[in-house]
Amino acid sequence: MSDNKFQGLLAGKTGVIFGVAHKTSIAWGIAKKLHDAGMKLAFTYQGERLLDNVKKLVDEEMPGSLLIDCDVTDDAQVEAVFTKLDAEFGKLHTVVHSVAFAKKEDLAGGFIDTSRDGFMLAHNISAYSLTVVAKYAQPLLVKNGGGSIITLTYLGGERVVKNYNVMGVAKAALDMSVRYLASDLGPQNIRVNAISAGPIKTLAARGISGFSDILSYMEDHTPMKRNVTQDEVGGTGLYLACDELSSGVTGEVIHVDAGFHAVGF
Ligand code: NAD
Repeated sequence: MSDNKFQGLLAGKTGVIFGVAHKTSIAWGIAKKLHDAGMKLAFTYQGERLLDNVKKLVDEEMPGSLLIDCDVTDDAQVEAVFTKLDAEFGKLHTVVHSVAFAKKEDLAGGFIDTSRDGFMLAHNISAYSLTVVAKYAQPLLVKNGGGSIITLTYLGGERVVKNYNVMGVAKAALDMSVRYLASDLGPQNIRVNAISAGPIKTLAARGISGFSDILSYMEDHTPMKRNVTQDEVGGTGLYLACDELSSGVTGEVIHVDAGFHAVGF
């Protein structure tokens, strides 16, 4: 018997994944779950620099998947992604937005020292991009009769987390964007949700000063006394992508953090 319990759950469905850079990427964890459930996927990558990485991963595990260059700060590139998907897929069910960036110097020290430029950059890439992606995805999701948009957020947007700084403020804007987008798109049966993941060692996470200390702190302080895995976040991505499982869920932020968000002192 196959050990793929979810085989066929998303058969006939199509999706696009923004944010794979490496095999450790949270987006890759979600992509693997969607692929195993039968979804046909396309991937965007951020410029030629990352193409080799993404192509190698995809060729090994999901050969033939469409790869599209896209920097989310450029509206024309985002629009072009969905024009291409319209031509290739005709309709779309799932969009995974797993993209964030802030300057390294803004992820250490005091938030008070954030530059105007650093603030704008972090918000442009990490928060506003969800809205522009949703805007251009909308017609294709409508053609499908609805669908699911999933983004990735972090507890640092709800509470102060040392060194997370401007990224926390951008995540707060992202979380609220999820709710407004859910309201705008709900009548078209398009659901918009966020997964608030616990810390996972990825390329982006390495940019946060003291990240290894956060991982060991979590082992002692989460209710489950451990960190979460890319695979566990992927499983919640599958749940949110699947209408049979989550059709009534929108505007939600689901914490996949071994319960850390629930505890106080
Ligand atoms: P990652 O480095 O693997 O992924 C970040 C992605 O953002 C990369 O693919 C990168 O190419 C992309 N990106 C950055 N700027 C871009 C731009 N201008 N245009 C297009 N793409 C761009 O790291 P990750 O940890 O998997 O991050 C994915 C998401 O998960 C982010 O939103 C991050 O904040 C969130 N998150 C991560 C953690 C963690 O501990 N790793 C925890 C909670 C939430």
